[in-house]
Amino acid sequence: MAQYDYDLFVIGAGSGGVRAARLAAMSGARVAIAEEDRVGGTCVIRGCVPKKFMVYASEFAHHFKTSKGYGWTVEGASFDWPAFLAEKDKEIARLSGIYVRNLQNAGAELAHGKARLLDAHTVEVGKIGKRTADKILIATGGRPWRPADLPGVEHAISSDDCFHLPKLPKSIVIGGGGYIAVEFAGIFNGLGVDVTLVHRGPNVLRGFDDDVRSHVTEEMEKRGITVILAAQHTAIEKTANGFMNKLSNGHECESELVMLCLGREPYVEGLGLEKAGVKLNEQGAVAVDEYSRTNVSNIWAVGDVTDRINLTPVAIREGQAFAQTEFYDTPTSFDHEMVASAVFSQPPIGSVGLSEADARKQYGKVDIYLARMKPMKYAFAGSDERALLKLVVDCATDKVLGCHVVGPDAPEMIQMAAIAMKMGVTKHQWDATCAVHPTLAEELVTMREKHEPLGLGQVA
Ligand code: NDP
Repeated sequence: MAQYDYDLFVIGAGSGGVRAARLAAMSGARVAIAEEDRVGGTCVIRGCVPKKFMVYASEFAHHFKTSKGYGWTVEGASFDWPAFLAEKDKEIARLSGIYVRNLQNAGAELAHGKARLLDAHTVEVGKIGKRTADKILIATGGRPWRPADLPGVEHAISSDDCFHLPKLPKSIVIGGGGYIAVEFAGIFNGLGVDVTLVHRGPNVLRGFDDDVRSHVTEEMEKRGITVILAAQHTAIEKTANGFMNKLSNGHECESELVMLCLGREPYVEGLGLEKAGVKLNEQGAVAVDEYSRTNVSNIWAVGDVTDRINLTPVAIREGQAFAQTEFYDTPTSFDHEMVASAVFSQPPIGSVGLSEADARKQYGKVDIYLARMKPMKYAFAGSDERALLKLVVDCATDKVLGCHVVGPDAPEMIQMAAIAMKMGVTKHQWDATCAVHPTLAEELVTMREKHEPLGLGQVA
């Protein structure tokens, strides 16, 4: 008779939890996974996947505009928000169903309900009751954070709400300058909403390369988004037609909707971590070691709840590394270095490695290669949209430390660049690669002249 009901109990059926549960179950372990919402987590249900559909939907406006330059006449084009939402919901339900089937096929048991720890080996799930497990994995993800002390904060929606708006607003003010703010600014703008983005910093997307930050802001403005920097909300007040946005720079503007995208926080509330003795770090995330193990030896945590790199593929790899270590006898820790990321702004960004500023701090002397040009598709159509491609190279070793692209297909390009950079490619090897013509990506392997920076964010 086994000592516990399960070998592994996973809390949270998002990207990281599902990957770990499936792999563990496929090894023959007795596995259960609890989920209080639909299976799939933030990525599938209210994040990456539906967001990308919204990006696709919103990009048509730009395509229609560009198509004129190619001789097309698109008359009477209109967008049906409810019809789009219905299709999006169908697809999300299908994908969530695939996740459920994959779990079942692997032999993992699904428990619907909110799970909380009673001690280091006992979990209570909603109405299902108490279950014991030898090992426990916390994979509860994150959720939107909102400043409780902002007057009128209750009037603002978060990214969670954007996927079910009954109708599109005429205007929206978006607070924040991170991934979500910038992506939704592009989405709403493309769908014909009057968008104002308000960010407290000197430029959007802190942490990204400064040239990328300036470039994407310029391009967003060209597409009609109003970007207000060095300001933040001080109050949101209800008006007859919507809301008054009061900002720290004294500016006031009215909008039909207000959305705050001020970051996400690890979802640890009500989990009973204290009962099991699991410690949080200073940021309020579950503290883990390189093998994702918490301070309690039989409890692990992966994904956004650990607030390392909050990206779906990272959560998946952390979950996989945990399963390999604990159920396949192959100690594996995920390497968080050189993880590429994409921002689905319009135009989009692909980025891997260090920004110029970080590279200068870490390596001292670096060479910069930079190109800014009109992508041929847009140049032909008479648009002044520009793309940016930038390489940061270590002078001492010739190693490519950073690659940053803003422009059409940048997220697709950066995946390939990340392979080479993960292998430690040098600029010499990079240049030895023959170009693919005619593409925007070929600029990456044909940049020969070093760029002399005029100052952060300024481009010659
Ligand atoms: P981010 O951390 O990216 O951005 C938060 C933004 O809110 C920053 O601009 C920050 O400013 C600002 N902010 C924070 N606190 C305050 C405050 N009190 N008042 C005013 N402004 C504030 O969070 P997001 O919510 O946009 O995204 C969360 C994470 O989800 C991302 O970091 C990313 O890891 C992931 N994600 C990834 C996507 C992708 O891969 N394409 C898409 C969406 C999300 P400051 O910079 O000054 O701190």
